[in-house]
Formats: sequence, structure tokens, C-alpha cells
Amino acid sequence: MEIKTDILVLGSGIAGLYATMHLAKYANVVLITKKAKTDSNTNYAQGGIASVFADNDSYESHIQDTLVAGAGLCDRASVEILVNEGPEHIKELIRIGTRFTMKENGLALAKEGGHSFSRIVHAQDLTGREVERALIEHVSKLSNVTILENHLAIDLITEHNIKKLKDRPIDSRHCWGAYVLDITESKVLKIISKATVISTGGLGQVYQHTTNPSIATGDGFAIAFRAGATLGNMEFIQFHPTSLYQGGNSEGEEQAFLISEAVRGFGGILRTIDGERFMSRYDSRLELAPRDIVARAIDSELKKRGDEFVYLDVTNKSAEAIKDHFPNIYTKCLSRGIDITKEMIPVVPAAHYACGGIVVDHHGKTSLTGLFASGEVTMTGVHGANRLASNSLLEALVFSARAAQGVATYLQNVEKHPTEIPDWDDSGTLSADEKVLISHSQKELKQLMWDYVGIVRSNLRLDFASRRISNLYQEVEDFYKKTKVFPSLLELRNLITCSHLIVKSGLMRTENRGLHYSLDYVNARQAEPPVNTILRNTYQKS
Ligand SMILES: Cc1cc2nc3c(=O)[nH]c(=O)nc-3n(C[C@H](O)[C@H](O)[C@H](O)COP(=O)(O)OP(=O)(O)OC[C@H]3O[C@@H](n4cnc5c(N)ncnc54)[C@H](O)[C@@H]3O)c2cc1C
Repeated sequence: MEIKTDILVLGSGIAGLYATMHLAKYANVVLITKKAKTDSNTNYAQGGIASVFADNDSYESHIQDTLVAGAGLCDRASVEILVNEGPEHIKELIRIGTRFTMKENGLALAKEGGHSFSRIVHAQDLTGREVERALIEHVSKLSNVTILENHLAIDLITEHNIKKLKDRPIDSRHCWGAYVLDITESKVLKIISKATVISTGGLGQVYQHTTNPSIATGDGFAIAFRAGATLGNMEFIQFHPTSLYQGGNSEGEEQAFLISEAVRGFGGILRTIDGERFMSRYDSRLELAPRDIVARAIDSELKKRGDEFVYLDVTNKSAEAIKDHFPNIYTKCLSRGIDITKEMIPVVPAAHYACGGIVVDHHGKTSLTGLFASGEVTMTGVHGANRLASNSLLEALVFSARAAQGVATYLQNVEKHPTEIPDWDDSGTLSADEKVLISHSQKELKQLMWDYVGIVRSNLRLDFASRRISNLYQEVEDFYKKTKVFPSLLELRNLITCSHLIVKSGLMRTENRGLHYSLDYVNARQAEPPVNTILRNTYQKS
């Protein structure tokens, strides 16, 4: 089956929906999403969106805070765009019906780690859910937008799918849409588009412990890499310092519950199991030090003491204030038997955010003609080696709107599609009845990535991981070639590719910078000037 459209958008998080809202002003859009519309990282974002609204705040201060967090690798021009254009997009969200928390004279603004001023626009502690609700309501009413749920993008359509074009050099490749698995019907369709926007979010599911939901299997990174697009800085994975400890039975749980940064901003204190406040040993900013420092400090305390968790303590605050600021966290912890107004919260770090991704320019353009990208899957240059809290929803807004402008310009001169794009060919493949191979390999991969490619790395650990990932890659590729495709197989394939990209980039970085911390470079000098790690698949086939 075939669908033709002006623009194909992959993903229904904040990036895909906001891009669609802008794209629909001038073209037809088909938006596909692999589960239900609301299944996204966006839906779980608690803290909020950083933006300059306070009278005592300034754009320059937000820019400086972002550059400091990025540890020398931010692109200043991208950061300026992010900060300067942010407020207009918050206002746009309000215009379409997003209900942010207000106070008498305007938006209520929270403070988070690494920010010099209170600038976090939020909807209590369920900001992402509220933004997702408003965007879905808005986009669902647009008559030229078709949303297809339970449709999973497998691979992009480029020259390599077309016999007579497949030997064209990788540098001149075009994207003409994607092969997509209709999960309900178990059929693969081709969706042919003039332009394609990848907004498939993050890859936290690469790791055993993650705050990301099950959709975050890094599909967009892997799809783009296989098609020949350029990716960068994949080693910079942010580990959130505080996810709710799951009582030693975390195996099998796909997503750890996040205890937001805002809880530390509110005055939460980190303590060892025997009650000692320990952050003064690591950073003068104490609990408000940037995430990587706090995550490493917790990791170090856990390894040193052999404990399984540390405590986050807000019992010094009034019960009313806690319930008022963090109703979601309060209820969730209560459901696990912890009353956070009276008891300390057991927490551990968890994989949270990918700072690198598909390299895009200031208008979402990737290295492939006709392929655009926005949101967590991209490397826009705003995060550098470490993301400042609450800058990712902002990045998704600002650069998705800009990607829509980039697509508009591109469509003015779009080349014609080749007419002979072939159907998906799965002749000779069998239906799989060996799903245990998938679940076993996935478990092995996640554990391997957690143990060897986690918060603290070394070349030995990365080399070991690399060899094991190559074996897994071979095993799963063999299986993939023999089998009719199904979601968990496609996702595992993508997780393996993402793991390879993280490890390879990690090995390329011979210094400690931002989120990449290796025991081999503790006393090494940092590269001057700082460099991005750039990866591109130079194979001609996918
Ligand atoms: C628990 C948590 C709390 C957070 N809190 C904050 C915060 O307070 N502030 C902040 O700025 N950031 C926060 N973040 C980060 C932020 O939420 C994400 O970076 C952001 O939501 C990413 O948006 P996105 O649209 O790029 O991706 P997502 O919201 O993840 O959306 C991706 C979409 O793509 C779809 N998809 C994926 N693969 C495919 C495929 N192969 N085919 C079709 N569809 C596909 C998914 O189903 C989903 O609809 C948080 C993240 C988490 C997990």
C-alpha cells in the first residue's frame, strides 16, 4: 500500500506536533506515531520549559547559563536563537490553550539547577502532559493533517532503495519518505513525501535504568544513520540524578519514575542512607550543581558505600507547600508507601536525555536533501556536552517551528520523486515465533550499556561493550533478514545501532568533557578548541 503526501512527520511528541502545527499552514501533513498519540517523552516532562520572563532576568543570563552547562561545545548562534525566540513560542502555546501555572502578575516561574534566575514556566509538575494535551487538541482539528497511530517508521526511502540509483554517492542522497509498519494490520506501507521530518525523540531505553518511556528506543537516530545522515556528539548522555528507587526489583520495569530537578530547586537535600548530607564533598553549589556533577556524586557515594540508593529529603518544608508544588510526585511516592512530607525519598540516577543526535542547521535541515529533524533526536548545537535543565522542551519548540520554515523554503524548489520507488519486499521471510531471542538480547544490551557505558566509563569498558555490541548486531541482523518485521525486532535493531553510536563516539573522545567521564582521562588536558564527534554511515546500503 502507498500513501502520498507533501510532508511526512515521524513522531507525536512536542517536536512532531509543534512542527506539524506550523507545517500545516502551507501543506498537507501525514503524522505517524508508533503507539498512541500521547505516548512520548514529552508526556512525562515534569519540571517545565526554561524561558526569560522575569523582570530581573535577561537573555544574556540564560545564554550564559546554557553555555556554561554545555562545557565549551555549544554553538553560540544556536543558543542565542533558542533563548531569544523562546518566549514567543511559550506565548503561542498559551494562545492555543496550554494552561501554565500562573500567579497574580503573570506566569509562575520556578528555579532549577544551573539557572541563575527563576525562569521555568510550568504546569504544576505535569508540564509535558499539559503541553501534549493542548498540542494534540489543536493539531487534531487541522483539516489537512492526518494522524496515524500505531504506525512505526522502519527506514527512510532514499536512492539506496532504487535499483538504478543505488550507486549514487552518499553525499547526494535524497529522502523521499519512509517505509512504515502498520502495527495493527501487520503490513508495511510506503509513505512517499516531498519532505520528511524526524521527531522521534530520545533513546533512554538503551539503558537498564531510564526515566524514558518504552517508546524511547532511538529509532530516529538509527534510521537516519542507516540512510547516511550525519550524527554528532552521541556520547553525551545525560543521567538524571534522581529517579525513584524501585526497591531492588527494578528488573522488568521499563521506566523509572523521575523525581524532578525542581525538588532540589525547592530545597531538597541529598543524604546518604545514614542521613549525612554529602554534596559539599563534590561541588560548592551543593544540590543545585548541574545534573552530571550530582549524578556522578551519587554514583560515587553508592559505589564507595555499596548502597543501592541515596535519599532526597524535603521533610524540612511544609506539607502544604510540598503537595502544592509536587502533587504528582507526592501521589506517586504515596502509592509506593512513602509520604514525602514526613519521609525521605530513596533515589538513584537513570538515563534521561540524549544531547547529541542528527546534525541539523538552524532550520532543521539534515545532511540528506529533503530530510529535516527536530526535538531530542537532533543536534542543534544548543546543548553542547551537557543540557541545561528545561532547555529541551524549549529547543523542541523553537527549532521545530524553524524546521517548518526550512521545509517551506525547500518545497519551493523541490525536485520530483523518482517514479519507481519499490514496495517493501519481505518475500522469503518467515513469521517469527522466537520472540525470546529479542527479549533476551534486549536485556543483555541494556545491562551492558548500564555497566560499561554509563555515568563513569573507561576505554577498556567501551572496547568490551563495542565487541559485544558487534556480536549482537550480527545476530539480530541475521534474524531481521529472515523474519517478517515486528515492533520489538525493529526497536532492538535500533537500540543496537544507537549503542554502537554512543560507544564509538565515546571512544573518539579522548578527554573528559560535560557528560562524558572516563577514568582514563581524569588528569588529561581538554582539547582546545573543543571538537564535536561526528559520525556518518558510509555504507551504501541499509
Ligand atoms: C521523565 C522526564 C521528564 C522530563 N522533564 C523535562 C522538563 O521538565 N523540561 C524539559 O525541557 N525536558 C524534560 N524532559 C525531556 C523532554 O521531555 C524531551 O526531551 C522532549 O519531550 C522530547 O520531545 P520530542 O518531541 O523530541 O520526543 P518525544 O516526546 O519522545 O516524542 C517522540 C515521538 O516519536 C514517536 N516515535 C518514536 N519512534 C518512532 C518510529 N519509529 N515511528 C513512528 N513514531 C515514532 C514516539 O512514539 C513519540 O510520539 C523530560 C524527559 C523525561 C523522560
